[in-house]
Amino acid sequence: MTDFVNIHCPYCGESIEIVVDASAGDQIYVEDCQVCCRPIDVRVTVGDDEEVFVTVSGENDA
Ligand SMILES: [Zn+2]
Repeated sequence: MTDFVNIHCPYCGESIEIVVDASAGDQIYVEDCQVCCRPIDVRVTVGDDEEVFVTVSGENDA
């Protein structure tokens, strides 16, 4: 099962739609912003009902 999730780029603030595979469980990966092409750290947490939570951060936030 895949979900479309809207995130906001931590660099340019643009809204981006990403596809998350909830059945794959928790994930951390890097997605390039479709607008400014900078690497966004995407952190996916899947709840008990396959409810998807997504948090994003820029590499400068560490
Ligand atoms: Zn961006």
